[in-house]
Amino acid sequence: MAIIKYVLLVLICIRVSAEELNVKHSERVESPNIILFLVDDMGWQDSSVPFYSERTAFNDFYKTPNMEKLASQGMKFMNSYAHAICSPSRTSILTGQNPARHHVTNWTFYANRDQSSRTKNISSPIKWRMEGLQPGYTMTLPEALKTQDYKTIHVGKFHLGAAKTAGATPEGLGFDVNIAGHHAGAPRSFCGLNNYSSAYRGQGNRWQVPGLKKYHGKDIHLTDALTTEANQAIETAVKEGKKFFLHMSHYTVHVPLEKHSPYYEEYLKAGVNEAEAKYASMVQGMDASLGSILKKLEELKVAEKTIIIFASDNGGLSYGVRGKTPMGTGKNTHNWPLKAGKGSAYEGGTRTPLIVSWASLAQNKLQEKIAIKPASQCHHMVISEDYYTTICALAGVKCLDKSTLDGVDLTPLITGSKEDVHSDLVFHIPHMWGPRGPGYEPHSAIRMGDWKAIYFYEGRNWELYNLKNDISEKQDLSKSNPEKLITLSNVLKRKLKQMDAQFPIDKRESKSIEPLWPMQ
Ligand code: CA
Repeated sequence: MAIIKYVLLVLICIRVSAEELNVKHSERVESPNIILFLVDDMGWQDSSVPFYSERTAFNDFYKTPNMEKLASQGMKFMNSYAHAICSPSRTSILTGQNPARHHVTNWTFYANRDQSSRTKNISSPIKWRMEGLQPGYTMTLPEALKTQDYKTIHVGKFHLGAAKTAGATPEGLGFDVNIAGHHAGAPRSFCGLNNYSSAYRGQGNRWQVPGLKKYHGKDIHLTDALTTEANQAIETAVKEGKKFFLHMSHYTVHVPLEKHSPYYEEYLKAGVNEAEAKYASMVQGMDASLGSILKKLEELKVAEKTIIIFASDNGGLSYGVRGKTPMGTGKNTHNWPLKAGKGSAYEGGTRTPLIVSWASLAQNKLQEKIAIKPASQCHHMVISEDYYTTICALAGVKCLDKSTLDGVDLTPLITGSKEDVHSDLVFHIPHMWGPRGPGYEPHSAIRMGDWKAIYFYEGRNWELYNLKNDISEKQDLSKSNPEKLITLSNVLKRKLKQMDAQFPIDKRESKSIEPLWPMQ
């Protein structure tokens, strides 16, 4: 049924596009080139650009001058969210759907092996999509953009379909060009001397980054190799006279933490501990990549008709290999003032940097049509699935199946014509992702206005926070404000049912169970 619906949608899109071609050239409105610059695991504080109401020690520590430039000429989002883990967020970006709907609720690798960790009481929903996103499920973002004649280019980490499935590669999900993307979510080495693989450690090369053989044996950081390749792909598209969508999906700043020279040596000289010097050098190397792409767009004279969406796929890593912060604190403080990090239900797991900007400012019809106020801020909450809808709107795609879309078009926020688009945001990760610690366990959550309610399946308990007064989620108000908890949980219940959410198995009852909804 899903496949029939999908085929019909594509046919409708092609018809709409053909009708548009009949419109006189002078009447047609041009649409921009679009770059989604997606950094892996980049935390909310991993930048010299503040996304919090005040500047922090992290903003003084990290060096991201090209992000600063982008923020100075565009809009930064102060309440931007992703889902807490890679594959769920990435599937949301390519489908416009919430994980509760698309059912890719944990990270994927093998189509028949659940990567979830174990807990005492809870196991994963039986039918969650371990195979990841597959062709025919819905119209993917690149497929939608191709109806508007975009050349669609993927560079870097993909991590959408499991190994050896049709969705494992970007081509399988609709991209015209694939550079270095496959089923795996990390490179095992960022160093060209190690062939971007774990083979140098005597391990198998299942995680080896594909398609970059020309860089093997050379001292070239993976981030730099991907940037070179992306710039060449942009140049090719421009020479072909094509509008392009670039899914610039860096493997950095995900583990393994490895030095990115020459930035690493500068942090070491400044007395930064080895782990954090590596991490900060990866952040700075990523920012240099952004700068290189901006420069290339200028050289090719397409910067003023290219929109950049700078984003991350989940909160920043804050356990395991991470070292001490600039404040001398340790794990679960790398996203301060947010609690915890990647994989957690708390804000550190889900808040992310987001900037939307023209690559360079100019007076032209496109920038009149999509006017982004320089150095502006948006305080309304937004989330990963909105990128799909927004990018489709920017590109002029008109044939989306709104009945299965959870993302909303952010262009009214970006252009300042509206101040809010969401009444709530839903989070649904019914899996144990990895480490033990604050919020790293199966959960569903909802944010409405200043309030956030979280349900933890393991302990069958609710928590409630007022983020305006308590962004660090220190004071659980679920007992002192039961009315507010009922309001939020009622909406969460309705939304999860609307999206056909899958619930985890509770071993105590040997069946899948919904949250214990508070009594009316
Ligand atoms: Ca990630």
